[in-house]
Amino acid sequence: MVDRISAETRSRNMSRIRSKDTKPEMQLRRIVYGMGYRYQLHVKSLPGCPDLVFARRRKALFIHGCFWHQHEGCKDSHLPKSRLAYWSPKLVRNAKRDIENERKLRELGWDTLTIWACEITDENRLAHRLQEFLM
Ligand SMILES: [Zn+2]
Repeated sequence: MVDRISAETRSRNMSRIRSKDTKPEMQLRRIVYGMGYRYQLHVKSLPGCPDLVFARRRKALFIHGCFWHQHEGCKDSHLPKSRLAYWSPKLVRNAKRDIENERKLRELGWDTLTIWACEITDENRLAHRLQEFLM
């Protein structure tokens, strides 16, 4: 019983953090759209369900939350110490899956780019990177 309750609390906490992560994605979409590129969202038929897909260019873009996808060396990726045992295996799995999905996409002939949530703050620099990736 105790376990069941704590699991429910945890998943509630998880969804709260997760919904916060959608803000960088909205920002990124706005920037890419403003640059004149059109894209498909969350294409489930591709490995890892890329966030933005430029089908004709065969390019796939991921926007990753620094915590969920464990951005290496990023201050936003730190694990809460009290929950280390709970989070650690999950996040390691996420990061491994990301690498695997990128590999699969490359094998299928797709170029991929990962933008981290913490990188959204510098819009000019980001636009420059996107331009290079998409042209
Ligand atoms: Zn980061």
